[in-house]
Amino acid sequence: MFQPDIPKILEIHAAERAKRKRPDGTAQYVLLSEEHTHLAADPFTERIEREPVRDHVTVAVIGAGFAGLITGARLKEAGVTDVRIVESGGDVGGTWYWNRYPGVRCDVASLIYLPLLEETGYMPTEWYSSGEEIFEHCRRIAKHYDLYDKGLFHTRVTDLEWDETARRWTVRTDRGDEFTAQFVSYGLGHLSVPKLPGVPGVETFAGHMFHTSRWDYAYTGDPDGGPLDNLRDKRVAIIGTGATAVQAVPELATACQELFVFQRTPSAVEVRNNRPIDPEWFARIATPGWQRRWLENYADNMTAAVSPREDLVDDSWTTLARLMRDSGGEGPSTDPDAPEGVSGELFADLRKMDELHARIDATVRDPRTAELLKPWYHLPCKRITFHDEFLDAFNVPTVHLVDTDGKGPERITERGVVVAGVEYEVDCVIFASGFEVNTAPTRRVGFDAVGRDGARLSEYWADGMRTMHSIHVHGFPNAFLVQPATGAMRFSNVSHILMESAQTVATVIAHAVSEGIGVVEVTRQAEDDWMQNVGVDEGWASFLTSDCTPGYVNNEGGGLGAFSLFQDYLSPDVMTFFRILQEWRDAREFTGLEFR
Ligand code: NDP
Repeated sequence: MFQPDIPKILEIHAAERAKRKRPDGTAQYVLLSEEHTHLAADPFTERIEREPVRDHVTVAVIGAGFAGLITGARLKEAGVTDVRIVESGGDVGGTWYWNRYPGVRCDVASLIYLPLLEETGYMPTEWYSSGEEIFEHCRRIAKHYDLYDKGLFHTRVTDLEWDETARRWTVRTDRGDEFTAQFVSYGLGHLSVPKLPGVPGVETFAGHMFHTSRWDYAYTGDPDGGPLDNLRDKRVAIIGTGATAVQAVPELATACQELFVFQRTPSAVEVRNNRPIDPEWFARIATPGWQRRWLENYADNMTAAVSPREDLVDDSWTTLARLMRDSGGEGPSTDPDAPEGVSGELFADLRKMDELHARIDATVRDPRTAELLKPWYHLPCKRITFHDEFLDAFNVPTVHLVDTDGKGPERITERGVVVAGVEYEVDCVIFASGFEVNTAPTRRVGFDAVGRDGARLSEYWADGMRTMHSIHVHGFPNAFLVQPATGAMRFSNVSHILMESAQTVATVIAHAVSEGIGVVEVTRQAEDDWMQNVGVDEGWASFLTSDCTPGYVNNEGGGLGAFSLFQDYLSPDVMTFFRILQEWRDAREFTGLEFR
């Protein structure tokens, strides 16, 4: 029987939260691209000089991650072939181009995470794909749909300006390009701009350092998945214990002479249970339309009010969602162990955290380390992680957990990292410190689109984002966003969200091209109508702000802010949002858009 001392646990939560709240909030971080430009450089692909481009294309797709690739693919399928991808990396892939740290893997099931599996005829080899497999799949999509053709890589858009007379966009880049495009499509750089913790003294460190999204294999050894040989005589620090570190630490644990894991807040680490996909089983399930069925079933299992009868993916994500839903939700707990008056959500959350604590005790041999690895916050406060070797890594005698009691390291010196007055001398510091999330999108994407009548997107969005369907912005004709905010942000399968948006964008552009329509723009009224139903669920907002430990979900404890990650279309479940988009597309009336 589970009999938690609930007031005591909530007291611990409050004390842990208080330790981590800091007045500088999100300002504590510094951007790699701004203050440490040498750390932002691409270690994977050589930059090749080329002549600037000065021409015209029908569609410019900015960014070649999943959003850009799916948009490009759907455009080509719809017969729009004159498509140019512009990408800051040296190849397609976005997240999966940059994040090549050892152990990188997606924790959403491959059959529903990898886009266009049916179209490209690819069967993922494992239930949770490695980063390498996902990156290869991105390249497969680009080849399949001929998206490399006309593509500009190692090229960053610096200016995007609408020319009302010519009825097209002018695109300028950091490679001196200046070309025009009738339509543009882009994302908003959620989780793509790496950040460093603003620990004093970073610049004084005399050893080697890099961010996990710029893994330096020339330093560590092994670009191809074997042992990280060069670390055998190195003392290595990794700063951060989020989803990235949880995957990288087990790989580093046996590779380094000594590994110091600097922890500010422990992650909740759930069971992974990865396994190969059996080709015979796959052949049986992969009947026409299989991926859509799987996507929709997963979306229902994650967000529908009532648990569906069938759970195709049936993994830790869907089990957790079911647990939360069937526990009684915000109402009284249905758990026979729950005391009267305790909500279903709270009791399920405490029970799950207790299970995760027990997993730590059962795995980590040193009781003090085990204690320090235990998360003390509500489960939804930080993104849960999934791994079957992370905890065990702390049983390797050369791996040391350096807990910072919620504060982070005090300083970085020429020789190493200082915590509680102790200097840990290391040869290399690896920052697993994450990415910008809730900042103004124009800061993240690196350009500020100038729309009709000279309006700047940053000004139009000064008080927060406004869109229709998360895609169309009034005053920015022929420009389309492929991204989740103001649409369906609270759903773990972001690639499904991108699939729906990309399909919508391709449908509108293909319609305009085939009908000879020069300009497409959402009306202010339609945008207003959509925004009536966009917001942050009030209960959720108050929970994140008041009851959660600081993190990127709540602006480091500062509240949800104008650009909160959780600006959602407030539909009862994510499939309702997807159906709205689909019905809007299928009707082909394009309600809310003005064509001229
Ligand atoms: P996160 O933002 O999740 O984690 C950053 C880590 O750095 C946290 O542990 C944070 O601690 C720590 N940190 C920040 N500042 C300091 C400091 N001053 N001192 C010590 N530690 C510090 O970044 P990740 O790269 O791990 O993950 C980013 C996101 O990418 C994930 O949330 C997830 O959405 C996605 N991801 C998904 C994966 C997948 O499998 N699908 C795999 C990897 C990433 P604190 O918690 O105290 O802020």
